[in-house]
Amino acid sequence: MADRDGKIWLDGELVEWRDAKIHVLTHTLHYGCGAFEGVRAYNTVNGTAIFRLREHTERLFNSAKILRMKIPFSFEQVIEAQKEVVRANQLESCYIRPLVWLGDEKLGVSPKGNRVHLMVAAWAWGAYLGEEGMKRGIRVKTSSFTRHHVNITMTQAKTVSNYTNSILANMEATDDGYDEALLLDSAGFVSEGSGENIFIVKNGVVYTPDLSAGALNGITRNTIFSICADLGLKIVEKRITRDEVYIADEAFFTGTAAEVTPIRELDRVQIGAGERGPVTEKIQNAFFDVVNGRNPKYAEWLTQV
Ligand code: PMP
Repeated sequence: MADRDGKIWLDGELVEWRDAKIHVLTHTLHYGCGAFEGVRAYNTVNGTAIFRLREHTERLFNSAKILRMKIPFSFEQVIEAQKEVVRANQLESCYIRPLVWLGDEKLGVSPKGNRVHLMVAAWAWGAYLGEEGMKRGIRVKTSSFTRHHVNITMTQAKTVSNYTNSILANMEATDDGYDEALLLDSAGFVSEGSGENIFIVKNGVVYTPDLSAGALNGITRNTIFSICADLGLKIVEKRITRDEVYIADEAFFTGTAAEVTPIRELDRVQIGAGERGPVTEKIQNAFFDVVNGRNPKYAEWLTQV
């Protein structure tokens, strides 16, 4: 990804994509203390706009706070940086990746004395789990890796190091021929995918794990709450067991990258009719109306670049 044309926002200025480099003795590269975001811009009916930019930026600042890192830019500067990167790369729709990390002043576990850096990159990125998966649903495997306990690496922070757990789970599942992993919490309850929140539908009610199961407080997850309210669907946060997913009528993943992706199978057990279910499809359509600017109720969630 490094060898391409474009601009990356690095510590306050736009630099050439190929010149956005760091040193091998960068603290975060060794010890994993960093935070990031995944944000999307859509080519909406009113032009290119970033979806829930303020919420993503708030989560970035909160992740840094949890890691005791002070971002050396104001909230508004980070908002502006993300807009600027989309504009500078002339992207109509894209994925935006802000990252906060510690510099190369010194090594040793203590991060004290290292400068805090911030970069923002953006590039075109289609359906994360495939176009086909969006329509037909994906095949998921329960991971042998447990999701982080809430008192290990802090599950409300979107930290760099949390993703070692996600990578292990995703590699295991995809090496075994599945599309994605489902991780359980340390008590055995359903938590989330390697990069997605999970929902199930049973008898017309939508359920999702409460955040004590260690899942990230997803911004798409939160968007689904509003969409369900609009659609008159009851939504319940609760502890969910793996077998409740097996016998659900429908299941789907949500995330900025994954958007709303139906799940048709877990551990080779067919969920419902083994295809995108009708409730999932309704929620998916409503979601794409919101992010593409076709639902005026949520106009304030879209920031024009
Ligand atoms: N859980 C994990 C582990 C994730 O990486 C993501 C993607 N950020 C999500 C859930 C979904 O969060 P969001 O909807 O805010 O992208």
